[in-house]
Amino acid sequence: MRLTFFGAAKEVTGSKHLLETDDKRLLIDCGLFQGKRKESEFQNLNFPFDPESIDLLILTHAHIDHSGNIPNFVKKGYKNQILSTYATIDLVQPMLIDSGHIHEKDIEYLKKKKNNQDKVPLYTVEDAKNSFKYFKGFNYYSDVNLGNGLTLTFLDAGHILGSSQLFFEYRGKKIVFTGDLGRKHLPIVRTPDTVKNVDVLIIESTYGDRVHKDIRLSREELKKVLESVKGKGGNLIVPAFSVGRSQELIFDLFILKNEGYDLGMNIYVDSPLTINVTKIFKEHPECYDEEMMGLFNQFKDPFNFKGLYYIEDVEESKKLNSMKESKIIISASGMCESGRILHHLKNNVENPNNTILITGFMAANTLGRKIVEGEKKLKIFDEEYELNAEVKIMNEYSAHADRNDLLSYIQKSRPKKIFLVHGEEEQIFKFKELLNSSGFKNVIVPSKGESFEIL
Ligand SMILES: [Zn+2]
Repeated sequence: MRLTFFGAAKEVTGSKHLLETDDKRLLIDCGLFQGKRKESEFQNLNFPFDPESIDLLILTHAHIDHSGNIPNFVKKGYKNQILSTYATIDLVQPMLIDSGHIHEKDIEYLKKKKNNQDKVPLYTVEDAKNSFKYFKGFNYYSDVNLGNGLTLTFLDAGHILGSSQLFFEYRGKKIVFTGDLGRKHLPIVRTPDTVKNVDVLIIESTYGDRVHKDIRLSREELKKVLESVKGKGGNLIVPAFSVGRSQELIFDLFILKNEGYDLGMNIYVDSPLTINVTKIFKEHPECYDEEMMGLFNQFKDPFNFKGLYYIEDVEESKKLNSMKESKIIISASGMCESGRILHHLKNNVENPNNTILITGFMAANTLGRKIVEGEKKLKIFDEEYELNAEVKIMNEYSAHADRNDLLSYIQKSRPKKIFLVHGEEEQIFKFKELLNSSGFKNVIVPSKGESFEIL
């Protein structure tokens, strides 16, 4: 069995791993590269293998850095099935449509601004829709027979709704791809599963050198941020991933309110994609943890309460800018690379009374990362804005395992061989050191394009 890493190798985007048996070529995830524009454009456009040569694509979860190049993959000739959990299928479809839309708009903008007429979008909304017929859904824990002694089970990764770890069994050996791994006590979703005595583990390491604050403190922290926003009378702008972070935040705001806390302002969820995705969250109780299930059984809906508004219409979205009273705006994209959040940042970053709340990981070279790093001048839609608003960073919300979670996961699964992926170089090598000093000697950090005989 051979494994080749074509993305998320010493980086956190573009997840794409090729697993080859004697008679099959399986692609694990087909993510979009994000970051430096020129470089990612080239990598997204050109697959380092022929899509037609792949027998099966298996998707760990709906996030765009794992799924976002599927429409292009199909456009370039892939005609076989795409396997994932049912919830992932439901989530990934609106996300790919949205992504197609962003690519179309991007090119339209470039053509107008830079008179660059030759450019075509990576894929269109139509291309995204064309890929949907290949999806096939599975429940967690059901065994999928892939033929010739290879079986696959989708285990819970506890990262976002529907997220899975891929557990392969082949000729008595166990291979696990964690995809993105969640952690204990995340709202809505369950704690990640573990498999014992794994032969080959391919594990993410986004936060391989960091320790998150306990997620159970998040509601208290959120309260402190709200108190400070109330004191200044400004707005709270929250760039948040449409899938996962937005729902977790809404969920926590609901819990605070349910406990009798006065939020003191309305919440506007201003992202059509987030709205679609939130509806999907309501349709998959098979993915809920105990707390969420408890509310569900009491017919309580944490995504629908007084003072929470979902803004679909563009005109309504624009009206938010002229509203004087304090408010919370939750909008996408999560890393501030596109979408309505850019308009809200543009209108709010220069006022010191406003607060920008960062709750997610910001990849290198994104506008989100620049805000985190406190760059004084921000370029939004080709214009410069001064960052005067207060920036609050809440790492509690991370849907990724931290260093301790990753180590304890590895200690439980006791893998013979470990490949570290989905981490920037600094984190990944520090985590490798930690593993080595904890007794795990067979740890490999693959480079992009590198191949290994794993069994
Ligand atoms: Zn993810």
